[in-house]
Amino acid sequence: MTTAEQGAQPSAAGAGSKSLAVLNELRNVPGPDGEHDIVSGKHVKNLSISGSNVQFVLALPKDDLERAEQLSAAARQALAVLEWVETVDITTEEEKAEPLAAAPTVHTPAQQVKPANALPNVKHVIAIGSGKGGVGKSTVSVNLALALAAAGHKVGLLDADVYGPSIPLMLAVSGNPLITQDERIIPLEKHGIKLMSMGFLLRPDQAVVWRGPMVHGVVRQFIGDVEWGELDFLVVDLPPGTGDAPLSLSQELPLTAAVVVTTPQEVAAAVAQKAMSMFQRLGIRILGIIENMSYFICPHCQESSEIFDRGGGRVLAGNALIPLLGEIPIDMRMRKGSDVGQPVVVEFPDSELAQQFKEIAARLAKQVEAE
Ligand code: ADP
Repeated sequence: MTTAEQGAQPSAAGAGSKSLAVLNELRNVPGPDGEHDIVSGKHVKNLSISGSNVQFVLALPKDDLERAEQLSAAARQALAVLEWVETVDITTEEEKAEPLAAAPTVHTPAQQVKPANALPNVKHVIAIGSGKGGVGKSTVSVNLALALAAAGHKVGLLDADVYGPSIPLMLAVSGNPLITQDERIIPLEKHGIKLMSMGFLLRPDQAVVWRGPMVHGVVRQFIGDVEWGELDFLVVDLPPGTGDAPLSLSQELPLTAAVVVTTPQEVAAAVAQKAMSMFQRLGIRILGIIENMSYFICPHCQESSEIFDRGGGRVLAGNALIPLLGEIPIDMRMRKGSDVGQPVVVEFPDSELAQQFKEIAARLAKQVEAE
């Protein structure tokens, strides 16, 4: 089964149900090879739905481009059975022979000005992004960094959420980093990982009111002036969204790849899509989606409840043909652990939750090391 097909698994009404319905109807349209439909043949890309408007790219091999009009008409006809669909915008493009997990590579000027050798001793810099705040991006960053460290990697964690640094609290680390005589910043350490955060440089009650250029300056310091030493992975907790701060950070940091965190409901997945587009525009490979707060198992009756609906991450990953790396449940230990600096991967290393983070970490490591 392809990731697109996995993305189209039946789901409860709600999260992503419109995308699923669209993909299901498009499966009735035979693809140009005569063997696959246009969905399983991976000709449908970048599906996005806004109210009653459906948009997608129809990617066809060069030789089949002349059939684009005919296939688009068939697709429109297939979607006509969906009552809520009013307009369908289809753009045709030539199919590129790209590996499935790779994001489209677009070399922008921003990418070219990146310092070429900014972190020469760091093998992989992985950004953790999200479309909006509160989806658990920092919690995931902390636990992933710890899971990578538990697997024996040398790990650093950069809290680049400059406007809302939460890593110091989540790992119960405070204090000012030491500055050496030649003005190098020595990162703090906890559970074997090196840490740097704006939070170490601010009073707890101090708000960050910087504008874009100041964020740039701090990021340059985090990259250039911090004594990270030799690292296998530097995990970067980006600010949420796609505004100035996450955008300039993504441009400035020598990123190897990115991971996007979302919660399952349709509205969260829709904004996560924007974060994905930002990375794609910058030519940054997206390793996959992590769906957080996917379900809640009642500790009393063991019944599973889908508090934030279900399936948004799966649909998002399926549409973009990138892996869904995991579905993390809502768990009190995650929330409590974050509040008191005891992340689950360290506090409950044998739990199923910790195991999930370890599996995601192992998969990420494999993906980037296979490059
Ligand atoms: P973000 O970085 O996206 O703003 P945080 O990681 O700060 O989100 O998480 C927001 C809140 O949700 C925190 O209180 C955190 O402890 C809690 N949280 C995150 N993931 C989970 C989870 N899977 N189960 C329970 N609580 C969670």
